[in-house]
Amino acid sequence: MTAPYQEVVRSLRQAFPQPVSDRVHDAYFVFSFLRALDQVDRMKSVTPLLGKPETLDYAAARQRRVAEAPSSLESVSDELVEHLSGLFISGHPRAQVNVVPAPTIPSIIGGMLPSIYNPNLCSDESGRSVSVAEVEVTAMAADLVGYPAEQSGGVFTFGGTGTLLYGAKIGLEKACPGAGQSGLREPATIICSDRAHYACSTVANWLGLGEQNVVHVPTTPENEIRTCLFETMLRDVLKEGRKVAAIVATMGTTDAFGLDDLSTMIEIRDRLRDEFDLDYTPHIHADAVIGWAWSVFNDYDFTTNPLGFDPRTVRALAGTARRIRHLGQSDSLGIDFHKTGFAPYVSSLFLLQKSSDLQLISRDQSATPYLFQSGHHHPGKYTLETTRGGSGPMSALANLLLFGKDGLRSLLGHLVTMAVELSAHLKGHAATVVLNQDNFGPVTLFRVYPDGVDTFAVPKREQTDAAYRSQLQAHNAYNRRVFELIRDEALQGRGVVISLTDCYRLSDYGEPIVALKSYIMSPFSEADNVQAVLDSIWRARRIIAQENASK
Ligand SMILES: *Cc1c(COP(=O)(O)O)cnc(C)c1O
Repeated sequence: MTAPYQEVVRSLRQAFPQPVSDRVHDAYFVFSFLRALDQVDRMKSVTPLLGKPETLDYAAARQRRVAEAPSSLESVSDELVEHLSGLFISGHPRAQVNVVPAPTIPSIIGGMLPSIYNPNLCSDESGRSVSVAEVEVTAMAADLVGYPAEQSGGVFTFGGTGTLLYGAKIGLEKACPGAGQSGLREPATIICSDRAHYACSTVANWLGLGEQNVVHVPTTPENEIRTCLFETMLRDVLKEGRKVAAIVATMGTTDAFGLDDLSTMIEIRDRLRDEFDLDYTPHIHADAVIGWAWSVFNDYDFTTNPLGFDPRTVRALAGTARRIRHLGQSDSLGIDFHKTGFAPYVSSLFLLQKSSDLQLISRDQSATPYLFQSGHHHPGKYTLETTRGGSGPMSALANLLLFGKDGLRSLLGHLVTMAVELSAHLKGHAATVVLNQDNFGPVTLFRVYPDGVDTFAVPKREQTDAAYRSQLQAHNAYNRRVFELIRDEALQGRGVVISLTDCYRLSDYGEPIVALKSYIMSPFSEADNVQAVLDSIWRARRIIAQENASK
């Protein structure tokens, strides 16, 4: 007689991929996935949304409990699919929300294969050839950004924040040797721009440096670090005898695509190191999680322009390339394949110019007696994580193979062409002002004004003149209302989904400046989707005018 549990096990076995080839069961596996895909496909319409707009019910969610009895693969799958309802379709040309790319099919396959076999990149004992994939991607990316291939190294980690954490941790060990063993005994700073990602503060907090020890250097109107102030503020830190755990150059700010002048920052760092006779070289980490992809243009000939980009696009791409070209001079950098590399979440690579720096964060063999008994490649000796999955490197590898340099150049060139087009229209209209005119990425930040506002003079006054505080606030509210109307319309299946940033920048007198944001990431974008943004804006302006008239 079989015990009840044996029945349960027997039936649950059907829910696992079979360990030994079984064509019939394989078909069941594939068909189950196909069925889920089919259900998701039925949730597609012309709108940039899967299914319908959903009201999220957390009260009901908190009432969920684990059932006594097992369920079937089919009903679990049905329920999982339902959770996709209401999601924005990131690859939809009318979804221009944020730096969220549409993943390619090869990168999805690359992400899924490891989830069937669970290779652990902790060591090549368990990761086998998937560990090799991580090394391949590291070499390819290092070459793209201009790190010397023989010396460089890298490791995939849990997001752009993770890449910054690695950079700052290694820099801290350089500045305060032994801090990892004995703890931090003196204050150490992270220096970055005021447009740097808040991940700098997260890292300062989690590393025990303290958020108050992040030095934020003011930026230019182009959202680039002011290098003269960088020099002043770095000098002040050194004069006070404080250590520098890391200098972070933001190569592609999250909102506006601002690019710090890395090369000048390095020159200043070296000069001050000598001037203060430091016994360490402050570590420079390039936060290039967004900007890295433009390194495919390092060896593009903008003069002969073989891919045939139009002149405005060439100018925008060259404007980015002039900064990205210097990435190879940084000590370390971060790459998000899940941002500008069209890979599924999460695929982030921390790259080091000199892999020998990894020794600074290696734990000794005695701490991990049960690992590393065989094999040759043991990232687990220095990674923060113990278990690391293979999805990140496999999906990154998929896209680097699929695109080649020309594929990535063409995709980025196309997105920038669309953004340039949108920007030109917004600049041409009296009621709209582009805020990041001199940034050259796929993102456009702009403000919309009511009739009768002199958009030649007012935005500048809002930025500089404290007497304009109340107008700035009123126009912030106006832009919030424009955003709401555009979003409501998008949820009904009309228009586009864009986003709003609460603080594009602070005005000179400390007031946040709200901006609307179009982030064009879909390879399916065309000029009519750009027109759709404009049409949505004009409709929203008309509605607000009517609302005001009836008040
Ligand atoms: C998105 C972003 C980060 C954080 O990366 P995650 O992958 O979201 O952890 C850090 N820096 C910049 C500039 C970013 O845009």
